[in-house]
Parts: sequence; C-alpha cells; structure tokens
Amino acid sequence: MSATVSDLCKACGFCCDGTLFDALRLTDADVGPAARARLPLFVDDGEQQLRLPCPAHVGACTIYEDRPSTCRAYQCLLVNRLEQGDLDLESALVRVGRLRALVDAIRPHLGEPGESFWVRAAALESRPFQWQIENEDLMLQIATLREMLARFIDARSRRGQMAR
Ligand code: SF4
Ligand code: SF4
Repeated sequence: MSATVSDLCKACGFCCDGTLFDALRLTDADVGPAARARLPLFVDDGEQQLRLPCPAHVGACTIYEDRPSTCRAYQCLLVNRLEQGDLDLESALVRVGRLRALVDAIRPHLGEPGESFWVRAAALESRPFQWQIENEDLMLQIATLREMLARFIDARSRRGQMAR
C-alpha cells in the first residue's frame, strides 16, 4: 500500500467500521488467524464471515500485518481513482470528510447499538410517512449517505447489509 493510500485509509476506515458493509467474507486460510485474534466470526450460507464493525479497527487496523486476505485484497473506488491518478489525496480526503460528517449527523438518531448502522437506518426509513415528513432532513441525510457511499466508495454498498 502506498503512503498516499495509507493516509487516506487511516482517515477513512469505512470498509472496517460498518459504514459500508455489515460483514466481510473470509477464506478458509483466514479463519484460524482471525479466530486467534478474537475477531467476531460467524457462518452465513456456508461462508465464514467476520462481523463488522471490526473490533481490530481502533483508529486504524491494529492487526495490520495479520489482517485477513480479504482485507489485503480490498480496494474501494476512491483508492482505485487515487492510484490511477484521477484523484489527488486532498480531494479524496474531502470526500471522506463529508461522508464522515453525514455518518456523525445520522448516528445519534439510530438509537442503541445492537443492529448494524444500516439496519437501524433502514428502520427509520420504514417509520410512518408522517414521521418521515417531520424528519425529512434526516431522511435526506440517510439517502445522501447511501448514494454517496455507493458512488464514491463501493457500488455494492447501495444494497446494504452485505459482505464485501
Ligand atoms: S473504504 Fe477505501 S479509503 Fe476507506 S479505508 Fe477502506 S479502502 Fe481505504
Ligand atoms: S482486520 Fe483490519 S483491515 Fe480487516 S476489517 Fe478488521 S480492522 Fe479492517
């Protein structure tokens, strides 16, 4: 990973902290090391997965040298653009900062942690129409975050609740 990408990822963390996905798939070879690192593993549809937010993400990855191969292989759209020279670090950090501000504005409305960010956001979006009208700024923030994450970070996130 280049120093520039590393700087971006340290400021972001969306692929680790549950903002983008609820889980990530593990290879068979990753399961042992992940279990020894006490990461929260589960099986879904026959696939070994790591539940996100990942507890190893404390500002940055605290098990970086031993992180699963899925983590090593992952590249979001922002990183791709950065590496291709279509985007500079400053612009990428601005995008991340704006997305982070949206996450921080929405999170206090989600209630007690338990379910993932997007399960709780979807619950708000399922509330009665009148409630949604009264909270239209929040509805707009959730819709904007979902769209911007999909547009700038990973299009798969638009569907929510999926594993990378
Ligand atoms: S979402 Fe992209 S920029 Fe953010 S930490 Fe993951 S790979 Fe890095
Ligand atoms: S192991 Fe490291 S890179 Fe992988 S999800 Fe957890 S914090 Fe992120």
